[in-house]
Formats: sequence, structure tokens, C-alpha cells
Amino acid sequence: MKALVYKGPGQIAWQDVPNPKIQHPTDVIVRIDTTTICGTDLHILKGDVPAVKAGRILGHEGVGTVTEIGSSVSTLAVGDNVIVSCIKSCGHCTFCKQGLFAHCLGEEGAVGIGWVFGHLIDGTQAEFVRVPYAETSVYKVPKGVTNQQGVLLSDILPTGFEIGVQYGQTKPGDVVAVIGAGPVGLAAIMTASLYGASKIISIDMNTDRVEQAKTFGATDGVNARADDWKARVMAMTDGFGVDVAIEAVGVPETFEMATQIVRPGGHVANVGVHGRPVQLRLQELWIHNITISMGLVNTNTTPMLLKLVAQGKLKVDKFVTHHFKLGEMEKAYDTFGRAASTGALKVILERTS
Ligand SMILES: [Zn+2]
Ligand SMILES: [Zn+2]
Repeated sequence: MKALVYKGPGQIAWQDVPNPKIQHPTDVIVRIDTTTICGTDLHILKGDVPAVKAGRILGHEGVGTVTEIGSSVSTLAVGDNVIVSCIKSCGHCTFCKQGLFAHCLGEEGAVGIGWVFGHLIDGTQAEFVRVPYAETSVYKVPKGVTNQQGVLLSDILPTGFEIGVQYGQTKPGDVVAVIGAGPVGLAAIMTASLYGASKIISIDMNTDRVEQAKTFGATDGVNARADDWKARVMAMTDGFGVDVAIEAVGVPETFEMATQIVRPGGHVANVGVHGRPVQLRLQELWIHNITISMGLVNTNTTPMLLKLVAQGKLKVDKFVTHHFKLGEMEKAYDTFGRAASTGALKVILERTS
């Protein structure tokens, strides 16, 4: 089969590799029909994730068809159309029982880490993928949900919702600010309204992205490059700051911004994947009763989000800006990697034959 292989920093290739095989009775093999590229894949490509070794097939998002099942798999069958979650879940360890799949103790990839696809085991940017703990790690695509919609539930929608909106403890009436209007920031914007946010402020350095965020549910926008960006945000509140500040970029500057606009008693929810240490002004923040949260997505809300997509309540198709054939993977990486000039949000890759 063909797959996108990481060859070391800055190098990837769509090339021939052996087909995956069932290794454990709980595995299934999925033929990838639809996949996409994540910002995290770009971090890997830069060499920011040293755990990813040369030779690894990348990708942790995908929808496909089950082509083979392990001997103990009884709730999935060949031909099932499934969403492969970016997080493995063995289903019976102590963390899985708490819904904290991000820390699944299953041995696949590494004990205690849920994110293994395209990281510690071969991923979904391939014609076929082996899915461990399949019965508890995939979701059947319900009627009325397309593959394109389903693939957005592998990672970005649950990540924005769980780590941004839920960890931020968003409540009815809250003013929520989301810093960064990339795919995950937009996922937080789209799902913040589920908890009744009264205002959702999109903050980004790119005016076009701020305008685009309004089509995802942002009620207001602020350009982060403006000298008075903070005063503008404060003016959109009662003057004391936002209830929930969601950081969806992953650099020290934007985390600092979040701590500057949060009101006393408010929440800073960090979603961004950071590559450098962040300075925390604890000496100033402590007296403001701020809660700071962060995390790796659990994907425990995937079934709920899937229902809302099926009902047409979450219009996720608007995340998709570009379409490619699976074999055009390298071209898709180039388009996604130059998002500032191409306007790419999510690029969708589809099997052709
Ligand atoms: Zn991702
Ligand atoms: Zn587990």
C-alpha cells in the first residue's frame, strides 16, 4: 500500500510500505476512505516531536471501512464505516473507566498515552491502518453523516470542545474569548455556544481569519496586532475581563494574552500545543483567583458531538477548505503548511478507487 512516511525533520514521502496486519485479537484493519492533516503533523514535520521516529506513518484522523477484524472483535464487522479516533482507548484500564482516554494504560504505543496514531504507532495518512482496541476506539458513522463530517470528529471538534469549552467551565451567559482562529480555535468557537456563551470573541493576528470566525459563531472579533487589542476586549465585557479565555495557538505570547484578559474568578483554558516554556506571572495572577487548565483531548464527547452533527446542529463542513486525492498527500501538506497564503483550514484527502 501507499502511505505518508516521516523521514526525519522536514522530510516526508508518499511511498510504498507493507500493508498493516492484525497483531492482537482486539485489532481491526481499516481502509482509509477520508483523512486530513493536523497542525500537530506540521509540528512533527518540523522535528518538534522527537518521539516520532523516521519511518513512522503519520496521521491521527481518519474515516474508513473495516476490512479485517481480530478474533475477539464482536461489535464491529467487515464493511462497517467508522471514525478512527485520534486517541486509543483499551476500555478497561482505570483511566479509560474515568473517561480519561488521553491517559489509557493500554500497552499499545506506550502505557499512559492515548495519542499513539502517527506518533508511536503507524497512523491514518495511508491506504490502510491497523486500529488497536478497535471496539472502544472507533465510532460507527451514523446515517446522515458524511465521511468528511466524520473526520472532523477524529480530533479537532472534541479537542476544541473538551480542552477549550469544557475545561474552561463555560457557563450560560459567559463571555468567552478564543485566541487563535485556526481549526481548533474555530472548533472551540463553534461549540462554545452549546453551553450558552453570551459573547464569543475571536482574537487573531489575521483580520480575514477573525472575519471567518464570525461564520463559525464568533459574535465579536479583535485583531491581535492592534495596539489597543486588550482595551477592545475589555470593552466587550463589563470592564473586568472575560469569563473564559481559550488559548488555541501554542506560543508563550498568546498564553500571556489569555492571562491578561481573564476576569477575577475566570478560567484560562490552554488548548495550544506548546514547544517552549511559558512564563507564568504567578505573583500577579494568584490574587485574581484564576483557574488554568490544559490537556490532551479524551474524545469522550465524540458520541455526543456526532449526534449534533447528524442533527445538523453543528455545521462542520465549513471547516473544509481544500480537497485532494489520497495520492496527493504531499501537495496537501504543502497547501496546509502555507495556510497563511492558501487560506487552508482543513484539507480533506479522499480515496479514489
Ligand atoms: Zn490533531
Ligand atoms: Zn485504557
